[in-house]
Amino acid sequence: MATEPKALEDLFHDTLKDVYYAEKQILKTLPKMAKAAKSPELKKAFDTHREETEGHVERLAEVFEIIGKAPRGKTCDAILGIIEEGKAVIEEYSDSPALDAGLAASAQAVEHYEISRYGTLKAWADQLGLKDASKLLAETLAEEERTDKSLSALGKTVNAAATKKAA
Ligand code: FE
Ligand code: FE
Repeated sequence: MATEPKALEDLFHDTLKDVYYAEKQILKTLPKMAKAAKSPELKKAFDTHREETEGHVERLAEVFEIIGKAPRGKTCDAILGIIEEGKAVIEEYSDSPALDAGLAASAQAVEHYEISRYGTLKAWADQLGLKDASKLLAETLAEEERTDKSLSALGKTVNAAATKKAA
């Protein structure tokens, strides 16, 4: 059976499904991370980003609409793996001083995955002449990058708290 040759349009649609699935998983995971975090600042960072993530799902739905497709996810093994590792940190470090440092690092792994996906999708939207889609993807990309930076800053505090001997 001959398969249809696939073009960038198909890749764009497939990757949109991947990140749509990923965002929905992240939406379910962030409250668990907020609950597990000891630092009030880290808890707040997770709560704030959960709210932003709702917006990411909505923007993706708009991008699906722009390309005339129904919003639908496709299992993303990468995000499931990253989330699974985050869960392991919560289990293995519960009540340990290094818990928050581990949570911040797990959250940054999620952000970096998203930054990679949104960067790619934006570049493809530009190539495909999808100006409105590109703008929506750039807005989310900027929020993911901002979250990553604030987690780096917060990380310094939680890393210090996790260290046995202060320098
Ligand atoms: Fe996101
Ligand atoms: Fe994010």
